[in-house]
Amino acid sequence: MTRMLAIANQKGGVAKTTTVASLGAALADLDVSVLVVDLDPQGCLTFSLGHDPDQLESSVHDVLLGEEEIADVLLDTDDNVTLLPATIDLAGAEALLLMRPGREYALKRALAEVAEDYDVILIDCPPSLGVLTLNGLTAADEVVVPLQCETLAHRGVGQLLRTVNEVQQITNPGLATLGAVATLYDARTTHSRDVLGDVSDRYDLPVLDPPIPRTVRFAEASASGTSVMRGRKNKGANAYRELAENLWKHWEAGTPVPTFDMA
Ligand code: ADP
Ligand code: MG
Repeated sequence: MTRMLAIANQKGGVAKTTTVASLGAALADLDVSVLVVDLDPQGCLTFSLGHDPDQLESSVHDVLLGEEEIADVLLDTDDNVTLLPATIDLAGAEALLLMRPGREYALKRALAEVAEDYDVILIDCPPSLGVLTLNGLTAADEVVVPLQCETLAHRGVGQLLRTVNEVQQITNPGLATLGAVATLYDARTTHSRDVLGDVSDRYDLPVLDPPIPRTVRFAEASASGTSVMRGRKNKGANAYRELAENLWKHWEAGTPVPTFDMA
């Protein structure tokens, strides 16, 4: 059985892409076969996995529009995950898809053709709640919401959860909300914890364990085109490894994902 997890938050800079790249690499290290999907026209995931979006002939854009077979577009990466890449063309896909019937199902239909080759498919959603994010949520079994632990982190969460709710009612009744992933977490002060507690209470959203600490290694990694997991050991990479193990146990054993105790 293939597990499909969407990573979504319409806010930019909350570590969606970092979470997809790091969880993907950590799951691959557990010998899990992983496909990661870049749904952001900016192509940051594609770039961070060592492929220059400007040099690619075809991408998820062509797949969504039915112009390429998904199997012909997939790329290998040094992180041992397979990548469905994005290019800036994807910025136009939104408008082109809007005119098509079944536009929310384009990704789901494409992924069905290769899903059996993978244990886990991680979908990096763009920073909007448009057709591309609806495609990600429609294809997925579960969704997690990265939350940057800063004041006003809650802004937009209500709107995102309403969108998830609409997707559950209309295109994907099986979609489950796993919870939030706390990113850029600072354990030295109580501020991060207070923010998380507030958002979690307000929206009844569990926070998955562990939180991902802020570490300078992440910025260095995304700029160099190799994932943070390949670098030296650091607390951010360790946290993603632990989260990957928790998710894998959840999928394998059917147990709930452990949640972070803010008390
Ligand atoms: P999004 O995909 O939500 O827009 P990104 O994953 O691109 O967010 O992350 C935004 C920025 O934050 C990037 O420069 C990334 O390197 C940095 N970043 C992500 N996670 C961490 C972390 N744990 N510590 C420090 N910087 C981080
Ligand atoms: Mg991103």
